Amino acid sequence: MFFSLLEEMHKKRDEYRCFAENELDEGDHFPYENLAKAAERGYMGCPIPREWGGMGESFLSYTLLIEEISRVCASTGVIMAVHTSVGTYPILYFGSDDQKNSYLPGLARGELLGAFALTEAGAGSDAAALSTTATAVDGGYLINGCKLFITAGGEADLYLVFATLDQSQGVKGITAFLVEKSSAGLTAGKPEKKMGLNRSHTTELRMDDLFVPTGSRLGKEGEGFKIAMSLLDGGRIGISAQALGLAGAAIDFTVGDMKSREKEGFKVEQNAAFIIADLATRFEAARLLSYSAASVKQSGERCTKEASMAKMFASDLAVEAATKCLDLCRIEKRTSDSPLSRYFCDAKVTQIYEGSNQIQRIVIARELTKITGLA
Ligand SMILES: Cc1cc2nc3c(=O)[nH]c(=O)nc-3n(C[C@H](O)[C@H](O)[C@H](O)COP(=O)(O)OP(=O)(O)OC[C@H]3O[C@@H](n4cnc5c(N)ncnc54)[C@H](O)[C@@H]3O)c2cc1C
Repeated sequence: MFFSLLEEMHKKRDEYRCFAENELDEGDHFPYENLAKAAERGYMGCPIPREWGGMGESFLSYTLLIEEISRVCASTGVIMAVHTSVGTYPILYFGSDDQKNSYLPGLARGELLGAFALTEAGAGSDAAALSTTATAVDGGYLINGCKLFITAGGEADLYLVFATLDQSQGVKGITAFLVEKSSAGLTAGKPEKKMGLNRSHTTELRMDDLFVPTGSRLGKEGEGFKIAMSLLDGGRIGISAQALGLAGAAIDFTVGDMKSREKEGFKVEQNAAFIIADLATRFEAARLLSYSAASVKQSGERCTKEASMAKMFASDLAVEAATKCLDLCRIEKRTSDSPLSRYFCDAKVTQIYEGSNQIQRIVIARELTKITGLA
């Protein structure tokens, strides 16, 4: 597929970069201020249609936004990506009129923060193995169980929670529910002590006899797994954008360091020049994969293979770029308060979430060969 960014998208990138570089802070707490500033600009609803309070931007424009935000603060980037792709889109795609009216404008304007609760102990890559239960009761359901590693846990206003009505039915029992933060029986744990992305709180989410009315079920009973899987393509493109932001920032930082060393009279060794040339070339290739996946998604065509390729390639590159750039920069640039340290610590998780890169390889192979039983 031939692909190049149109002038309009270059302008959008400039706008997003200017915002990220001038308005985002790089503190060490949950980025409330960053999210509020993003909301003021409409960015919390970047690709959501205008009729629902969003900016009505294309998915490619949203991809550029997450890339630029993540160059400066990858924690803010992932919170926004989760909020949009798996927190807001599900209501746009699968919500009833009541659910859309109740939640979409608030989510799109950033007055509400959305989150996605699928993973459990024993149900990560194999999400179908989840054991959180939903039991039908008068007027709704009682949910019991515990989710793990939930981005924006304890901070989000609305969680998309997946639970099974009948474990013996496998994926056909899984159902999706919209759970408000204030629901009795919902408890978020303390933020996990992670190696990176520390401004993005990641917590356990317990549900003890949590009542949700029937009107808070998203889609029909048994449609939850289909809903979860249908969101992952967009989610993975968002993570590829986050990885691009980290890789691009690491490469630019290192090129800057090389230039300043040359000015000081030190010659950049050929080996170092070759490494940075390879990284920069692969970075452009990763961008093409991500932007073309975003364009396929925008067209409405199936983009499962493209999204997995983009996420896998860009996240592997982010880890490699952060690692090699640490090697290449002079020693003073490797302290824990250097941006390089942040790129290095934040990059790793992009290989893990929204489906690990082993799972992406399985998805790509399955899409290529349609071999059943690979999973
Ligand atoms: C910072 C962070 C934020 C997260 N945010 C969210 C969130 O907001 N919502 C949410 O629901 N989840 C979230 N997750 C969970 C994330 O999606 C899972 O960690 C991920 O899907 C992997 O699951 P797991 O950690 O249980 O690993 P496992 O599934 O236990 O896998 C362990 C290893 O085995 C490999 N593996 C597993 N199965 C196969 C296979 N069939 N073939 C080959 N290799 C395989 C994996 O690739 C991995 O290397 C988050 C995780 C992190 C770390």
